[in-house]
Amino acid sequence: MKYYSTNKQSPIVDFREATIKGQAPDKGLFFPEFIPQLEKSLIENIADFSNEEIAFRVIKPYVGNAIADEKLFQIVSETVNFPIPLVKINDSISSLELFHGPTLAFKDIGARFMSRCLGHFVKDAVLTPLRTRKITVLVATSGDTGGAVANGFYGVDGVEVVILYPSGKVSPVQEKQLTTLSKNIKALEVEGTFDDCQQMVKQAFTDKDINDKLFITSANSINVARWLPQQFYYFFAYKQWADKKSPPVISVPSGNFGNICAGMLAMQSGLPIQHFIAACNVNDIVTDYLQTEILKPKQAVATLSNAMDVGNPSNFVRILEIFHHQSPELKSKLSSYSITDAETTATIKEVYQRDNYVLDPHGAVGYLSLQRYLQSHREQKGILLETAHPVKFPDAVESCIGKPIDIPTDVQSIMYKEKKSTLINANYKELKAFLLK
Ligand SMILES: *Cc1c(COP(=O)(O)O)cnc(C)c1O
Repeated sequence: MKYYSTNKQSPIVDFREATIKGQAPDKGLFFPEFIPQLEKSLIENIADFSNEEIAFRVIKPYVGNAIADEKLFQIVSETVNFPIPLVKINDSISSLELFHGPTLAFKDIGARFMSRCLGHFVKDAVLTPLRTRKITVLVATSGDTGGAVANGFYGVDGVEVVILYPSGKVSPVQEKQLTTLSKNIKALEVEGTFDDCQQMVKQAFTDKDINDKLFITSANSINVARWLPQQFYYFFAYKQWADKKSPPVISVPSGNFGNICAGMLAMQSGLPIQHFIAACNVNDIVTDYLQTEILKPKQAVATLSNAMDVGNPSNFVRILEIFHHQSPELKSKLSSYSITDAETTATIKEVYQRDNYVLDPHGAVGYLSLQRYLQSHREQKGILLETAHPVKFPDAVESCIGKPIDIPTDVQSIMYKEKKSTLINANYKELKAFLLK
């Protein structure tokens, strides 16, 4: 498989180079030259396949010869080695729980797959003599991404991870996930905001001194090795879907649109899905687009579902690419709703009281969007992707359900571990000194 840039000004590359580069040199996103079609037998007999086998068959055409089959199978096995159950909430709506991974959010899947691919590529990388045979992954986080990346890359040989996070602005659980691993994971606690962290990281990528001495890359969500494996769980959802004659409508809480874009790619390669819902909070760029056909980036607004506070969703261009920029075709497969914080908390309350199911704020946006769609499509049923465990957002959820949330045992133990971070000012010179040390 070869990948071209959505800006069409960069040379085509294979999976290996797309993974190492992250973004195309012309600042576009890498996109596969064609969408592979799945073997019919995989879909018809999906219940006979293990999750590892499904994942391997789905990703193999995208990886091509960049990784040997045996190694690729090992990588996907390590990527999907936790439960991803489809849980029925009520008659018409089920929840695909993507939060049973090590950092309790769906980003674990993409981060685990990407880290192992990169670790594999470093081993045979021919780097310039000045550089060490090591890759430094540099990432700024506002919370969820950092934890998933730290955990995914933990202990991967030849890769060092440096994570910048804003001091005092991530939740206690998130901070522990970032700072208690050590080994090849370094946490930099920045006296500033998330935007400061991101700015410092961007500057490092363009700094000649840094690039002469280090091989740096990002673990950003636009990386193909983070984006493509997100297709897996749409297949796992279908595997567990009882009524194969009537495929599900799937509602995806969306921010940067990588997750839903992977689902739409899976559908285009042959996975039966009735319709997609882009569930958004008040950051409604795509909801607007589907009405006006004008994509107008806005300043992001802070909400309870903060992982979706994105004012310029970078992966949406890939959805347009899947549909050849034809909006009638796109609109027949995609709807979008924009949900307020008040509606989010009302939904958490209502679903808990009526169905005894605890949603997190992102899942609640997904639930209500799906419910709205089903109101005008009564013969259909659907799935919402529950993208994070409610314990990651205790303040919002506990005030809705009126009791504390049970903390999974893994999280309990992490809370006792010692935090190890290096405090720096929001000043690029300090980051540079740290990296070159
Ligand atoms: C990142 C994230 C999202 C948004 O996913 P995108 O792929 O950026 O659309 C939704 N929910 C949670 C909990 C997240 O961490």
